[in-house]
Amino acid sequence: MIGKLRVVNTLTKQKEIFEPINPPFVGMYVCGPTVYSDVHLGNVRTFLSFDIVYRYLIHSGYKVRYVRNITDVGHLVDDADDGEDKIGKKAKLDNLEPMEVVQKYTNDFHQVMELFNILPPNIEPCATGHIIDQITMIQKIIESGFAYEVKGSVYFDVEAYNRDNNYGKLSGRNIEDLLINTRELDGQDEKRNPLDFALWKNASSDHLMRWPSPWGNGFPGWHLECSVMSTKYLGETFDIHGGGMDLKFPHHDCEIAQSVGAGGKDPVKYWMHTNMLTVNGQKMSKSLGNSFLPSQLVTGDHELLERPYSPMTVRFFMLQSHYSSTLDFSNDALQAAQKGYRKLMNGLKVLDQLETQITESVEPNEKVIEQINQLCDNCYRAMDDDFNTALTIGHLFNLLKKINSIHTGQLSVGEIGLECFNRMKNTFKTFIADILGLRIEQPLQAENVLKLILDFYKEAKAKKDYEKVDHIRDMLKGEGVVLKDMKTGIDWAFEEK
Ligand code: AMP
Ligand code: ZN
Repeated sequence: MIGKLRVVNTLTKQKEIFEPINPPFVGMYVCGPTVYSDVHLGNVRTFLSFDIVYRYLIHSGYKVRYVRNITDVGHLVDDADDGEDKIGKKAKLDNLEPMEVVQKYTNDFHQVMELFNILPPNIEPCATGHIIDQITMIQKIIESGFAYEVKGSVYFDVEAYNRDNNYGKLSGRNIEDLLINTRELDGQDEKRNPLDFALWKNASSDHLMRWPSPWGNGFPGWHLECSVMSTKYLGETFDIHGGGMDLKFPHHDCEIAQSVGAGGKDPVKYWMHTNMLTVNGQKMSKSLGNSFLPSQLVTGDHELLERPYSPMTVRFFMLQSHYSSTLDFSNDALQAAQKGYRKLMNGLKVLDQLETQITESVEPNEKVIEQINQLCDNCYRAMDDDFNTALTIGHLFNLLKKINSIHTGQLSVGEIGLECFNRMKNTFKTFIADILGLRIEQPLQAENVLKLILDFYKEAKAKKDYEKVDHIRDMLKGEGVVLKDMKTGIDWAFEEK
């Protein structure tokens, strides 16, 4: 380890030295997906950014408990307190049981995470599994005088809370501004104040997802699940809470209000927010129609895509920018990313082939040794500086230049010595595989390789080169493939034993 990890905290707007509450343990909570539709590439960017945080904390020796929830109830279509539940609506549309919708999109989400090599969290709790905990928290908020019941629904009383607390402190809004920007109560509204938000919503009998509560049948508000599940699994105050920056308000500001309002403490030490993936400067979002699915990316089947891109190309593309900057999607940038990713992979390949036996005594090249050590340190410095993957990749490319000069013979392992060589090798490999999570994608399809081998086989047979013929047969047999001389020609089959 080189220095101290520093993190930009949304709450203080400062870059702070990361000091966990109870080292070496770190509690990290990230708002997960609402499982009513396919995950798009914008969502992937946020989950990937926290994958890097998770990986680097583990690499730095922390024992991380990473909790990422599944929102399976309570997220309404208008993101406020009216409208239909997103999952309920989808279930009605597709004539499915709501839990079928939840399962389908949860499975889909997991597949997408795996595709991009995003590690699973340690706990993945869902809102419907924590209804009792949510009811308990609402009761505490009511007891503290920060919530009120109207016709079977319970609302958080923002004005009462704000008398001694600062509602909106995370996103930096103040109540007066918020009041100006919020619609007037239309008389139909049950809320005392338009800023109040639902903790529990009354549900009529045609509502698919509802549970009994002290206030009648209903369902929990969206913000509540994250307050409940984060503190349940990570404690009253925990280290890191993350999500996309569009969640700062109201979702995360409401979370703070709920935790404090329930008689607890400020729930989070470091708030982290990722910036958006954009398309022509506009946030990628399903509702704007400018989003595409990871599967479309891999097939290239979308009007925005000039051609297919592999998952690791996309991962690399996203890591080339810092998580707090916007990242604009473009075919040019993805093509450049493909080139960059492949260069790094070639570096890994070369490293494994390099001859490391020092046969002759050579003068150590202290200058190059110093440069390599500096580059290795720089990789850590960049990651320690608020997980700056963009800068880290730059340093890795400089390390790659040294690796390539050994490969081409301009520099010898003898000149830098085994210790320096091994440090370079370990740093390069560790950063690429463990910290950046880039895995090697096989360049060839097995089917295509087999076709090529069959051509060689036919050629060898025609030339009566039986040594080669036997060699190819044996080699393929070792892989469970047999060659068959058919009337129609030579074909391959799986060996049946
Ligand atoms: P959702 O399922 O809509 O709640 O979104 C899941 C996560 O993806 C949230 O943390 C959002 O902030 C994040 N997100 C949504 N759109 C984008 C985008 N275009 N770029 C980056 N993150 C996004
Ligand atoms: Zn959340």
